[in-house]
Amino acid sequence: MEPLLELKGVKKYFFVQAGFFKKTTKVAKVIDGVSFKISESKTLGLVGESGCGKTTLARLILALFKPTEGEIFFNRARLDRILATVYLRKCFRKDVQAIFQDPVSSLNPRQRVENIIKEPFIVHEESHSRDIKKRVIELLGTVGLNEKFLKKFPHELSGGENQRVNIARALALKPKLIICDEPLSSLDLTIQARLINLFLDLQRDFKISYLFISHDLRVIERISDDVLVMYLGKICEYATWRDLYNQPLHPYTKILMSSLIKGKRLLAKGEIPSPTEPPPGCNFHTRCPFAMKICKEEEPKLLSHNDRLISCHLYNNPKFCDNKICPEGVV
Ligand code: SF4
Repeated sequence: MEPLLELKGVKKYFFVQAGFFKKTTKVAKVIDGVSFKISESKTLGLVGESGCGKTTLARLILALFKPTEGEIFFNRARLDRILATVYLRKCFRKDVQAIFQDPVSSLNPRQRVENIIKEPFIVHEESHSRDIKKRVIELLGTVGLNEKFLKKFPHELSGGENQRVNIARALALKPKLIICDEPLSSLDLTIQARLINLFLDLQRDFKISYLFISHDLRVIERISDDVLVMYLGKICEYATWRDLYNQPLHPYTKILMSSLIKGKRLLAKGEIPSPTEPPPGCNFHTRCPFAMKICKEEEPKLLSHNDRLISCHLYNNPKFCDNKICPEGVV
């Protein structure tokens, strides 16, 4: 199946400049060579600690940032070419929508729900004004709200209801892809469960694809087809959710997954380093419980191993696996 979204070797560096001549003093490698695909009606879960580059990646796909290097394709067309044409740019803005973490601050507090959901129709000159209200009511119904909410302001709604309004607004223009950046993290567990079901129902009914960013592995497990684990701007492991949850292999994935098993929690040493000073070799070596000499000297490549992609010397180098240093099954 042709991918709807494809990233090829995407990098995003931020240059820290100082002094009168604006000399570059530091380079923050926030995204450093990321490649993946999302097909129609599929969900890619993206996990990693704060500071690993998840939100920057979302902004690159939404064309809010330009990549420093690499290519992004949407519907087989290169994103920079799409953005250079007024008509294609408009289609892209309709086809790719976003839902963000804080449901309340994502909505204009001075607008009623009706106007909030109407806005995309007006901006994109979709529908005649008499039809818009009908479509707004339909959208409210789709996300489990009703006409009573039309005249309410965001502060009169609960967190879950506000997020439903955000989802209704994102659905207004029948998008193909929705970038969900931690959309459930500020909500309680019962509301999270209901909204996950809503996301799955919408995917089945409207064939929407999601890039679902979350630090909550239980949410990712329920919603994802494939999962990408990122650390300091690079991919550690890229696998189907089933493979990843049945047997996490990369030491960083094992540490993240151990939080799901009571009494078996593993902790990475220290803090995530700054992207302006990433460690040499494997960027996880300063925190990895399995780090070896080679890890400090040589960067592991992202290679195929057991039906997944993994970047770790333990799996890339048969010498280590043959000597049983390979920590499969440690967790
Ligand atoms: Fe750990 Fe080395 Fe693998 Fe990096 S390459 S994750 S430091 S074992």
